[in-house]
Amino acid sequence: MTMDKLAILEGRTEPYRRQPYNSIGSDETAAAVRVLESRNLSGFVGRAGDAFLGGPCVRQLEKEFSDFFGIKHAVTFNSATTALQAAVAALGIGPGDEVITSPYTMSATASAILLNGAVPVFADIHPESYCVDPESVRRNITPRTKAIIAVNIFGGAADYDELRKIADEHGLKIIEDNAQGPGGTYRGKYLATIGDIGVFSLNVHKVIQCGEGGVLVTNDDKLAYRAQLVRNHGEVILDDTQDFGEHIMGSNYRLSEVHAAIASVQFKKLDQFNQARIDQVAYLNEKLKQFAWLVPCRVPEHIKHVYYLYPFEFKSDVLGISRKTFAKAVNAEGFRVAEGYVKPIYLMPAYQNKRMFPRSQFPFVSTEYPTEVSYAKGICPTTERLFEKDLLTTTIHQPPNTREDVDAFCEVLKRIEEQAAELKEYEGQKA
Ligand SMILES: *Cc1c(COP(=O)(O)O)cnc(C)c1O
Repeated sequence: MTMDKLAILEGRTEPYRRQPYNSIGSDETAAAVRVLESRNLSGFVGRAGDAFLGGPCVRQLEKEFSDFFGIKHAVTFNSATTALQAAVAALGIGPGDEVITSPYTMSATASAILLNGAVPVFADIHPESYCVDPESVRRNITPRTKAIIAVNIFGGAADYDELRKIADEHGLKIIEDNAQGPGGTYRGKYLATIGDIGVFSLNVHKVIQCGEGGVLVTNDDKLAYRAQLVRNHGEVILDDTQDFGEHIMGSNYRLSEVHAAIASVQFKKLDQFNQARIDQVAYLNEKLKQFAWLVPCRVPEHIKHVYYLYPFEFKSDVLGISRKTFAKAVNAEGFRVAEGYVKPIYLMPAYQNKRMFPRSQFPFVSTEYPTEVSYAKGICPTTERLFEKDLLTTTIHQPPNTREDVDAFCEVLKRIEEQAAELKEYEGQKA
Protein backbone atom coordinates (compact mmCIF):
# COMPACT_ATOMS: atom_id res chain seq x y z
CA MET A 1 0.00 0.00 0.00
CA THR A 2 1.42 3.34 -1.01
CA MET A 3 1.32 5.65 1.96
CA ASP A 4 1.11 9.14 0.53
CA LYS A 5 -2.36 10.54 0.44
CA LEU A 6 -3.61 11.92 -2.84
CA ALA A 7 -3.17 15.68 -3.20
CA ILE A 8 -6.87 16.17 -3.90
CA LEU A 9 -7.79 14.59 -0.54
CA GLU A 10 -5.45 17.01 1.20
CA GLY A 11 -6.84 19.99 -0.70
CA ARG A 12 -3.53 20.44 -2.53
CA THR A 13 -2.59 20.73 -6.19
CA GLU A 14 0.84 19.71 -7.40
CA PRO A 15 2.31 21.91 -10.13
CA TYR A 16 1.89 20.63 -13.69
CA ARG A 17 4.86 18.35 -14.28
CA ARG A 18 5.05 18.15 -18.01
CA GLN A 19 7.64 19.88 -20.13
CA PRO A 20 5.85 21.57 -23.02
CA TYR A 21 5.86 19.56 -26.23
CA ASN A 22 8.17 21.29 -28.66
CA SER A 23 8.92 19.72 -31.99
CA ILE A 24 10.78 22.70 -33.43
CA GLY A 25 14.57 22.45 -33.56
CA SER A 26 17.48 24.43 -34.94
CA ASP A 27 17.05 22.96 -38.44
CA GLU A 28 13.48 24.33 -38.65
CA THR A 29 14.81 27.70 -37.49
CA ALA A 30 17.55 27.64 -40.11
CA ALA A 31 15.04 26.78 -42.85
CA ALA A 32 12.81 29.70 -41.85
CA VAL A 33 15.75 32.09 -41.75
CA ARG A 34 16.86 31.01 -45.23
CA VAL A 35 13.43 31.98 -46.58
CA LEU A 36 13.49 35.32 -44.76
CA GLU A 37 16.90 36.05 -46.21
CA SER A 38 15.67 35.20 -49.68
CA ARG A 39 13.03 37.97 -49.25
CA ASN A 40 10.56 35.70 -51.07
CA LEU A 41 8.01 35.14 -48.31
CA SER A 42 5.21 34.12 -50.66
CA GLY A 43 5.42 33.05 -54.28
CA PHE A 44 1.68 33.15 -54.98
CA VAL A 45 -0.01 35.49 -57.41
CA GLY A 46 -3.76 35.33 -57.96
CA ARG A 47 -3.74 35.24 -61.76
CA ALA A 48 -3.08 32.69 -64.50
CA GLY A 49 0.52 31.64 -64.91
CA ASP A 50 3.21 29.81 -63.05
CA ALA A 51 2.91 31.82 -59.84
CA PHE A 52 -0.72 30.74 -59.45
CA LEU A 53 0.63 27.56 -57.87
CA GLY A 54 2.94 29.19 -55.34
CA GLY A 55 6.66 29.56 -54.70
CA PRO A 56 9.53 27.06 -54.51
CA CYS A 57 9.08 26.00 -50.86
CA VAL A 58 5.35 25.44 -51.29
CA ARG A 59 5.93 23.29 -54.36
CA GLN A 60 8.79 21.43 -52.72
CA LEU A 61 6.57 20.55 -49.75
CA GLU A 62 3.83 19.39 -52.10
CA LYS A 63 6.30 17.18 -53.96
CA GLU A 64 7.51 15.69 -50.68
CA PHE A 65 3.95 14.87 -49.61
CA SER A 66 3.00 13.31 -52.93
CA ASP A 67 6.22 11.27 -53.09
CA PHE A 68 6.01 10.04 -49.51
CA PHE A 69 2.35 9.10 -49.63
CA GLY A 70 2.52 7.76 -53.18
CA ILE A 71 -0.28 10.00 -54.39
CA LYS A 72 -0.54 12.04 -57.56
CA HIS A 73 -1.37 15.47 -56.14
CA ALA A 74 -0.66 17.35 -52.93
CA VAL A 75 -2.06 20.88 -52.59
CA THR A 76 -0.93 22.92 -49.59
CA PHE A 77 -3.26 25.23 -47.66
CA ASN A 78 -2.92 27.62 -44.74
CA SER A 79 -4.84 25.16 -42.52
CA ALA A 80 -6.59 21.81 -42.57
CA THR A 81 -9.80 23.78 -42.05
CA THR A 82 -9.42 25.61 -45.35
CA ALA A 83 -8.22 22.40 -47.05
CA LEU A 84 -11.41 20.64 -45.91
CA GLN A 85 -13.51 23.53 -47.15
CA ALA A 86 -11.75 23.30 -50.54
CA ALA A 87 -12.21 19.52 -50.58
CA VAL A 88 -15.99 19.88 -50.24
CA ALA A 89 -16.05 22.62 -52.88
CA ALA A 90 -13.84 20.57 -55.23
CA LEU A 91 -16.40 17.77 -55.14
CA GLY A 92 -19.03 20.21 -56.39
CA ILE A 93 -21.05 19.97 -53.19
CA GLY A 94 -23.33 22.90 -52.44
CA PRO A 95 -26.81 24.07 -51.36
CA GLY A 96 -29.37 21.29 -51.16
CA ASP A 97 -26.72 18.60 -50.57
CA GLU A 98 -25.99 16.63 -47.44
CA VAL A 99 -22.63 15.32 -46.24
CA ILE A 100 -22.45 12.65 -43.55
CA THR A 101 -19.75 12.99 -40.94
CA SER A 102 -18.80 12.19 -37.36
CA PRO A 103 -19.91 14.48 -34.54
CA TYR A 104 -16.86 13.50 -32.48
CA THR A 105 -14.24 15.70 -34.09
CA MET A 106 -13.01 19.23 -34.22
CA SER A 107 -15.81 21.59 -35.29
CA ALA A 108 -13.90 22.42 -38.50
CA THR A 109 -14.85 19.08 -40.07
CA ALA A 110 -18.52 20.07 -40.13
CA SER A 111 -18.12 23.80 -40.74
CA ALA A 112 -16.31 22.91 -43.99
CA ILE A 113 -19.65 21.49 -45.15
CA LEU A 114 -21.74 24.44 -43.95
CA LEU A 115 -19.39 27.01 -45.46
CA ASN A 116 -20.16 25.43 -48.85
CA GLY A 117 -23.89 25.82 -48.26
CA ALA A 118 -24.45 22.09 -47.69
CA VAL A 119 -25.92 20.46 -44.59
CA PRO A 120 -23.91 18.22 -42.24
CA VAL A 121 -25.66 15.03 -41.14
CA PHE A 122 -24.14 13.33 -38.13
CA ALA A 123 -23.71 9.57 -37.97
CA ASP A 124 -22.80 7.93 -34.68
CA ILE A 125 -19.31 6.63 -34.01
CA HIS A 126 -18.13 3.07 -33.49
CA PRO A 127 -17.63 2.32 -29.78
CA GLU A 128 -14.07 1.04 -30.24
CA SER A 129 -12.56 3.01 -33.12
CA TYR A 130 -14.32 6.29 -32.12
CA CYS A 131 -14.58 6.90 -35.88
CA VAL A 132 -17.81 7.11 -37.84
CA ASP A 133 -19.77 3.83 -37.72
CA PRO A 134 -20.58 2.49 -41.23
CA GLU A 135 -23.92 1.11 -40.01
CA SER A 136 -24.97 4.53 -38.78
CA VAL A 137 -23.73 6.12 -42.02
CA ARG A 138 -25.95 3.72 -43.94
CA ARG A 139 -28.99 4.68 -41.86
CA ASN A 140 -28.39 8.37 -42.51
CA ILE A 141 -28.17 8.24 -46.30
CA THR A 142 -30.87 10.17 -48.18
CA PRO A 143 -31.26 11.12 -51.86
CA ARG A 144 -29.43 14.34 -50.96
CA THR A 145 -26.28 12.66 -49.61
CA LYS A 146 -23.22 13.44 -51.73
CA ALA A 147 -20.23 12.51 -49.58
CA ILE A 148 -18.91 11.12 -46.32
CA ILE A 149 -16.21 12.93 -44.35
CA ALA A 150 -14.56 10.21 -42.30
CA VAL A 151 -12.33 11.48 -39.50
CA ASN A 152 -9.31 9.45 -38.42
CA ILE A 153 -9.78 10.59 -34.88
CA PHE A 154 -6.92 10.50 -32.34
CA GLY A 155 -4.69 9.06 -35.11
CA GLY A 156 -6.69 5.84 -35.55
CA ALA A 157 -8.67 4.91 -38.65
CA ALA A 158 -12.26 4.63 -39.81
CA ASP A 159 -13.56 1.38 -41.33
CA TYR A 160 -12.70 2.15 -44.96
CA ASP A 161 -13.64 -1.27 -46.38
CA GLU A 162 -17.22 -0.76 -45.27
CA LEU A 163 -17.31 2.95 -46.04
CA ARG A 164 -16.08 2.31 -49.59
CA LYS A 165 -18.77 -0.34 -50.08
CA ILE A 166 -21.45 2.09 -48.95
CA ALA A 167 -20.00 4.93 -51.03
CA ASP A 168 -19.92 2.80 -54.17
CA GLU A 169 -23.46 1.53 -53.62
CA HIS A 170 -24.81 5.07 -53.32
CA GLY A 171 -22.46 7.02 -55.59
CA LEU A 172 -20.87 8.97 -52.74
CA LYS A 173 -17.40 10.46 -52.42
CA ILE A 174 -15.18 9.98 -49.37
CA ILE A 175 -13.12 12.76 -47.81
CA GLU A 176 -10.67 11.72 -45.10
CA ASP A 177 -10.10 14.28 -42.38
CA ASN A 178 -6.68 13.00 -41.45
CA ALA A 179 -5.58 16.06 -39.49
CA GLN A 180 -4.68 13.79 -36.56
CA GLY A 181 -3.25 10.77 -38.34
CA PRO A 182 -0.31 11.58 -40.67
CA GLY A 183 1.64 8.37 -41.26
CA GLY A 184 -1.08 6.09 -39.90
CA THR A 185 -2.20 3.20 -42.12
CA TYR A 186 -5.27 1.08 -42.86
CA ARG A 187 -4.55 -2.36 -44.38
CA GLY A 188 -1.09 -1.09 -45.28
CA LYS A 189 -2.35 2.02 -47.06
CA TYR A 190 -1.55 5.46 -45.77
CA LEU A 191 -4.46 7.29 -44.21
CA ALA A 192 -5.62 10.24 -46.37
CA THR A 193 -4.84 8.26 -49.55
CA ILE A 194 -7.79 5.85 -49.24
CA GLY A 195 -10.67 8.27 -49.79
CA ASP A 196 -11.17 10.43 -52.88
CA ILE A 197 -9.53 13.33 -51.06
CA GLY A 198 -7.48 13.36 -47.85
CA VAL A 199 -6.53 16.28 -45.64
CA PHE A 200 -3.62 16.82 -43.22
CA SER A 201 -3.07 19.57 -40.66
CA LEU A 202 0.22 21.33 -39.95
CA ASN A 203 -1.21 23.25 -36.99
CA VAL A 204 1.00 23.86 -33.96
CA HIS A 205 -0.86 21.22 -31.92
CA LYS A 206 -0.45 18.44 -34.45
CA VAL A 207 2.26 15.78 -34.75
CA ILE A 208 4.15 17.70 -37.42
CA GLN A 209 3.57 21.42 -37.64
CA CYS A 210 4.65 24.80 -38.97
CA GLY A 211 2.35 26.91 -36.78
CA GLU A 212 -0.54 26.98 -39.25
CA GLY A 213 -0.87 24.92 -42.40
CA GLY A 214 -2.65 22.06 -44.15
CA VAL A 215 -2.26 19.72 -47.10
CA LEU A 216 -4.90 18.19 -49.38
CA VAL A 217 -4.03 15.02 -51.31
CA THR A 218 -5.83 13.27 -54.16
CA ASN A 219 -5.17 11.05 -57.17
CA ASP A 220 -7.80 12.90 -59.19
CA ASP A 221 -6.50 15.61 -61.56
CA LYS A 222 -9.79 17.46 -61.68
CA LEU A 223 -10.21 17.55 -57.90
CA ALA A 224 -6.65 18.81 -57.47
CA TYR A 225 -7.27 21.57 -60.03
CA ARG A 226 -10.46 22.65 -58.32
CA ALA A 227 -8.72 22.67 -54.94
CA GLN A 228 -6.04 24.91 -56.42
CA LEU A 229 -8.77 27.25 -57.71
CA VAL A 230 -10.36 27.48 -54.28
CA ARG A 231 -6.99 28.13 -52.67
CA ASN A 232 -6.13 31.15 -54.77
CA HIS A 233 -9.02 33.33 -55.98
CA GLY A 234 -9.96 30.85 -58.70
CA GLU A 235 -12.66 33.06 -60.21
CA VAL A 236 -9.90 35.23 -61.68
CA ILE A 237 -8.28 32.23 -63.38
CA LEU A 238 -11.58 31.12 -64.83
CA ASP A 239 -11.80 34.55 -66.42
CA ASP A 240 -8.27 34.17 -67.81
CA THR A 241 -8.80 30.66 -69.11
CA GLN A 242 -12.44 31.00 -70.20
CA ASP A 243 -12.99 27.83 -68.21
CA PHE A 244 -16.61 28.75 -67.49
CA GLY A 245 -17.69 25.18 -66.92
CA GLU A 246 -16.47 25.65 -63.34
CA HIS A 247 -18.70 27.05 -60.63
CA ILE A 248 -16.27 28.03 -57.99
CA MET A 249 -15.42 30.96 -55.78
CA GLY A 250 -11.91 31.04 -54.44
CA SER A 251 -10.35 32.75 -51.49
CA ASN A 252 -6.90 33.17 -50.02
CA TYR A 253 -6.02 29.85 -48.42
CA ARG A 254 -2.37 30.01 -49.45
CA LEU A 255 0.56 28.79 -47.39
CA SER A 256 3.55 31.14 -47.03
CA GLU A 257 7.05 30.13 -48.11
CA VAL A 258 8.26 30.43 -44.51
CA HIS A 259 5.65 27.99 -43.27
CA ALA A 260 6.28 25.60 -46.15
CA ALA A 261 10.01 25.57 -45.45
CA ILE A 262 9.44 24.77 -41.76
CA ALA A 263 6.92 22.06 -42.68
CA SER A 264 9.41 20.38 -45.03
CA VAL A 265 11.89 19.97 -42.20
CA GLN A 266 9.17 18.70 -39.86
CA PHE A 267 7.88 16.27 -42.47
CA LYS A 268 11.24 14.48 -42.59
CA LYS A 269 10.77 13.72 -38.88
CA LEU A 270 7.28 12.30 -39.21
CA ASP A 271 8.24 8.63 -38.88
CA GLN A 272 10.51 9.37 -35.93
CA PHE A 273 7.82 11.43 -34.13
CA ASN A 274 5.21 8.75 -34.73
CA GLN A 275 7.48 5.92 -33.60
CA ALA A 276 8.25 7.70 -30.32
CA ARG A 277 4.51 7.86 -29.54
CA ILE A 278 3.85 4.29 -30.68
CA ASP A 279 6.64 2.95 -28.44
CA GLN A 280 5.41 4.91 -25.44
CA VAL A 281 1.86 3.67 -26.00
CA ALA A 282 3.04 0.05 -26.14
CA TYR A 283 4.62 0.59 -22.73
CA LEU A 284 1.59 2.47 -21.38
CA ASN A 285 -0.89 -0.17 -22.64
CA GLU A 286 1.05 -2.90 -20.85
CA LYS A 287 0.93 -0.95 -17.57
CA LEU A 288 -2.76 -0.05 -17.88
CA LYS A 289 -3.69 -3.75 -17.93
CA GLN A 290 -3.49 -3.85 -14.13
CA PHE A 291 -6.50 -1.51 -13.80
CA ALA A 292 -9.82 -3.31 -14.18
CA TRP A 293 -11.61 0.05 -14.23
CA LEU A 294 -9.85 1.33 -17.35
CA VAL A 295 -10.32 0.30 -20.96
CA PRO A 296 -7.14 1.03 -22.93
CA CYS A 297 -7.28 2.18 -26.54
CA ARG A 298 -8.15 -0.81 -28.76
CA VAL A 299 -6.54 -1.02 -32.19
CA PRO A 300 -7.19 -3.86 -34.65
CA GLU A 301 -4.23 -5.57 -36.39
CA HIS A 302 -4.90 -3.97 -39.76
CA ILE A 303 -4.57 -0.40 -38.46
CA LYS A 304 -1.42 1.52 -37.60
CA HIS A 305 -2.55 4.08 -35.01
CA VAL A 306 -0.28 7.09 -34.56
CA TYR A 307 -1.77 8.42 -31.30
CA TYR A 308 -2.19 12.13 -31.80
CA LEU A 309 -3.91 11.73 -28.44
CA TYR A 310 -4.23 8.59 -26.33
CA PRO A 311 -7.92 7.84 -25.70
CA PHE A 312 -9.10 5.47 -22.98
CA GLU A 313 -12.31 4.73 -21.13
CA PHE A 314 -13.19 4.93 -17.48
CA LYS A 315 -15.56 2.48 -15.84
CA SER A 316 -17.15 4.50 -13.10
CA ASP A 317 -19.24 1.57 -11.84
CA VAL A 318 -16.12 -0.57 -11.26
CA LEU A 319 -13.99 1.98 -9.40
CA GLY A 320 -16.96 3.57 -7.64
CA ILE A 321 -16.12 7.22 -8.34
CA SER A 322 -17.16 9.54 -11.16
CA ARG A 323 -14.96 10.35 -14.13
CA LYS A 324 -14.92 13.94 -12.93
CA THR A 325 -13.46 13.02 -9.55
CA PHE A 326 -10.94 10.73 -11.23
CA ALA A 327 -9.79 13.48 -13.60
CA LYS A 328 -9.56 16.02 -10.78
CA ALA A 329 -7.51 13.59 -8.69
CA VAL A 330 -5.07 12.91 -11.55
CA ASN A 331 -4.74 16.59 -12.40
CA ALA A 332 -4.11 17.54 -8.76
CA GLU A 333 -1.05 15.25 -8.88
CA GLY A 334 0.46 17.40 -11.65
CA PHE A 335 -0.58 15.18 -14.58
CA ARG A 336 -3.30 15.84 -17.10
CA VAL A 337 -6.22 13.79 -18.30
CA ALA A 338 -9.01 15.52 -20.20
CA GLU A 339 -12.67 14.45 -19.95
CA GLY A 340 -14.83 13.62 -22.93
CA TYR A 341 -12.70 15.04 -25.76
CA VAL A 342 -15.08 17.50 -27.52
CA LYS A 343 -18.80 18.16 -27.30
CA PRO A 344 -20.67 16.32 -30.08
CA ILE A 345 -20.80 18.94 -32.82
CA TYR A 346 -24.59 18.94 -33.25
CA LEU A 347 -24.96 20.06 -29.62
CA MET A 348 -23.05 23.29 -30.32
CA PRO A 349 -25.16 26.47 -30.53
CA ALA A 350 -24.93 27.02 -34.33
CA TYR A 351 -26.49 23.58 -34.82
CA GLN A 352 -28.98 23.71 -31.97
CA ASN A 353 -30.22 27.08 -33.28
CA LYS A 354 -29.66 26.11 -36.93
CA ARG A 355 -28.18 29.50 -37.51
CA MET A 356 -24.85 30.54 -39.02
CA PHE A 357 -25.89 33.84 -40.67
CA PRO A 358 -27.44 36.87 -38.93
CA ARG A 359 -30.82 37.08 -40.71
CA SER A 360 -31.23 33.69 -42.33
CA GLN A 361 -31.28 30.04 -41.38
CA PHE A 362 -29.53 29.08 -44.61
CA PRO A 363 -28.55 26.34 -45.32
CA PHE A 364 -30.36 24.43 -42.55
CA VAL A 365 -33.75 25.88 -43.49
CA SER A 366 -33.91 27.09 -47.09
CA THR A 367 -35.66 26.69 -50.44
CA GLU A 368 -32.71 24.59 -51.60
CA TYR A 369 -33.19 22.29 -48.61
CA PRO A 370 -36.95 21.64 -48.24
CA THR A 371 -36.51 18.97 -45.59
CA GLU A 372 -35.46 18.85 -41.97
CA VAL A 373 -32.18 17.68 -40.46
CA SER A 374 -32.19 16.55 -36.82
CA TYR A 375 -29.59 17.74 -34.36
CA ALA A 376 -31.61 16.60 -31.36
CA LYS A 377 -29.87 15.30 -28.28
CA GLY A 378 -29.85 11.51 -28.49
CA ILE A 379 -29.22 11.11 -32.24
CA CYS A 380 -25.72 9.68 -31.61
CA PRO A 381 -25.92 7.76 -28.32
CA THR A 382 -22.41 6.26 -28.42
CA THR A 383 -20.84 9.66 -29.01
CA GLU A 384 -22.90 11.20 -26.21
CA ARG A 385 -22.00 8.39 -23.77
CA LEU A 386 -18.28 8.75 -24.47
CA PHE A 387 -18.47 12.54 -24.22
CA GLU A 388 -20.55 12.64 -21.05
CA LYS A 389 -19.36 9.60 -19.12
CA ASP A 390 -16.66 7.29 -20.38
CA LEU A 391 -13.89 8.75 -22.51
CA LEU A 392 -10.69 10.40 -21.33
CA THR A 393 -7.59 11.45 -23.22
CA THR A 394 -4.02 11.89 -22.11
CA THR A 395 -0.81 13.16 -23.69
CA ILE A 396 1.49 11.21 -21.36
CA HIS A 397 2.71 9.17 -24.38
CA GLN A 398 3.99 12.27 -26.19
CA PRO A 399 7.59 13.44 -26.15
CA PRO A 400 9.32 14.80 -24.16
CA ASN A 401 7.68 12.37 -21.71
CA THR A 402 9.73 9.26 -21.06
CA ARG A 403 9.01 5.82 -19.64
CA GLU A 404 9.67 7.29 -16.20
CA ASP A 405 6.84 9.76 -16.78
CA VAL A 406 4.54 6.91 -17.82
CA ASP A 407 5.60 5.05 -14.65
CA ALA A 408 4.83 8.09 -12.50
CA PHE A 409 1.46 8.54 -14.20
CA CYS A 410 0.53 4.89 -13.58
CA GLU A 411 1.69 5.23 -9.98
CA VAL A 412 -0.90 7.99 -9.58
CA LEU A 413 -3.56 5.70 -11.04
CA LYS A 414 -2.52 3.00 -8.56
CA ARG A 415 -2.87 5.40 -5.64
CA ILE A 416 -6.28 6.47 -6.92
CA GLU A 417 -7.32 2.82 -6.96
CA GLU A 418 -6.05 2.31 -3.40
CA GLN A 419 -7.75 5.44 -2.10
CA ALA A 420 -10.98 5.01 -4.08
CA ALA A 421 -13.07 4.69 -0.90
CA GLU A 422 -11.79 8.04 0.39
CA LEU A 423 -12.32 9.59 -3.03
CA LYS A 424 -15.91 8.36 -2.97
CA GLU A 425 -16.39 10.05 0.38
CA TYR A 426 -14.79 13.25 -0.96
CA GLU A 427 -17.16 13.08 -3.91
CA GLY A 428 -20.13 12.73 -1.55
CA GLN A 429 -19.10 15.84 0.36
CA LYS A 430 -18.77 17.85 -2.85
CA ALA A 431 -22.17 16.75 -4.17
C1 LIG B 1 -6.89 20.11 -35.94
C2 LIG B 1 -8.00 19.52 -36.71
C3 LIG B 1 -8.60 20.16 -37.80
C4 LIG B 1 -8.24 21.55 -38.20
O1 LIG B 1 -6.89 21.71 -38.46
P1 LIG B 1 -6.29 23.19 -38.63
O2 LIG B 1 -5.04 22.96 -39.41
O3 LIG B 1 -6.04 23.72 -37.27
O4 LIG B 1 -7.28 24.01 -39.38
C5 LIG B 1 -9.58 19.51 -38.48
N1 LIG B 1 -9.99 18.28 -38.13
C6 LIG B 1 -9.45 17.63 -37.10
C7 LIG B 1 -9.93 16.26 -36.77
C8 LIG B 1 -8.45 18.23 -36.33
O5 LIG B 1 -7.93 17.59 -35.29
